[in-house]
Amino acid sequence: MLSIAIDGPVGAGKSTVADEVARRLGILHLDTGAMYRAVGLAVAAAGIDVQDEQAVSALCRQGGAHVDVRYENGTQVTLVNGQDVTGSIRSQEAGTAASAVSRYAAVRRMLVKRQQELAQEQPMLLDGRDIGTVVLKDATVKIYLTASPEARARRRLNQLREKGQDADFGEILHEVNTRDHQDMTRAVDPLRQAEDAVVVDSSDLDFEQTVQAILRLVEAANG
Ligand code: C5P
Repeated sequence: MLSIAIDGPVGAGKSTVADEVARRLGILHLDTGAMYRAVGLAVAAAGIDVQDEQAVSALCRQGGAHVDVRYENGTQVTLVNGQDVTGSIRSQEAGTAASAVSRYAAVRRMLVKRQQELAQEQPMLLDGRDIGTVVLKDATVKIYLTASPEARARRRLNQLREKGQDADFGEILHEVNTRDHQDMTRAVDPLRQAEDAVVVDSSDLDFEQTVQAILRLVEAANG
């Protein structure tokens, strides 16, 4: 069964690139970050402090942060406790909560299991932080998609400006570096490049060039 793992740091363009690669290959894309964001929302909705590992773990064990995904016309819909949270998980708050709860073993165990089940059911492309190292150790092809912190901060700044929001480059760069540090130094399943992953550095590539680079790697691996 074809399985594609794409990991990498925040702002490398993983989600949008992964979405397009999956679309061109005619397979489903599972954005695993969305699942961590959904848990973050469920924790907040339950009135639990995201820093309280025991309470967050208990909520997960009791089934109070049940995350699932379904696909509508090939597009991922993310659910938590049966409620569609596809729109609300995109907020800055959900991202920060996701980053906090993703440090906990109980949260990761629960989500990794569901991700593995989904990938067994159909050919899929998964993107996240631990896909090549933990979730799909035997993926057909593993890609580590990265870009320099400056290039990632510049893209984020342009996205915000396109939305009419003003932002400070220095501040965004600081956020990018902080998130990298958190994701790469956490004790459980930190972000790292799998030994058998191929690095795609998109610092000097545009969107289409990045998509093409990944498609070539998939083609080479899949014969
Ligand atoms: O990719 P995205 O920004 O949506 O992910 C939100 C947070 O979830 C990340 O900061 C990361 O800490 C966490 N995450 C993770 N493992 C994954 C996907 C996301 O720890 N496979």
